[in-house]
Amino acid sequence: MLSSPSGGGKSTIAGYLQDKFHYMQRSISYTTRPPRAGEKNGIDYHFVSEDEFFQKKDKNFFIETVQVYNYFYGTPFNFIESTLKKGLWPLLLIDGEGFLNIKDQYDHIESFFIIPPSKNILKKRLVDRQDSMHIIDSRMAEYDYHMSFQNHYKHIIVNDILDKCVASIENILKMAPTKKISVK
Ligand code: ADP
Repeated sequence: MLSSPSGGGKSTIAGYLQDKFHYMQRSISYTTRPPRAGEKNGIDYHFVSEDEFFQKKDKNFFIETVQVYNYFYGTPFNFIESTLKKGLWPLLLIDGEGFLNIKDQYDHIESFFIIPPSKNILKKRLVDRQDSMHIIDSRMAEYDYHMSFQNHYKHIIVNDILDKCVASIENILKMAPTKKISVK
């Protein structure tokens, strides 16, 4: 499980980990936003109507939900169980609140809180990612809140030099107590 303030590097790191670990499967979120060009239902996201989203939410289908502008996103609970049943490793990119909802239940799964080298460097990365100024301001305003969850995680990793950060996570995962691991 990977968490960080927005822009901390979760998606980037997840991409590297998935290249390295055959048995890792990244969770597919549900969203009410329409697909962008090239996005496929069931692969990039599960695209659902707002009605369906809220029916699922009411039935406790989601570990966490977030709203970005007028669209909603949710990480499903059933993904972890179905992935573990297949003998695969679930990879979840979730926020601190979502993590606390499942931490006790899945204490055997490694958890990483990724922190940027500094708040200023994070801001620069968001600018380079071409987030709009409005979005960057709201992400920076939420920074302290997200960082406040870090001590709940098994590992806190600084994402300064990307290769080093990914290598630290890989080394921990290679030692994880499971036979279902395959490293390329
Ligand atoms: P998140 O998924 O946590 O929001 P991203 O993976 O999108 O974060 O990373 C935010 C931006 O920072 C991206 O543009 C990414 O390429 C860049 N980035 C991530 N890690 C590093 C790093 N160690 N050094 C420089 N840039 C980085």
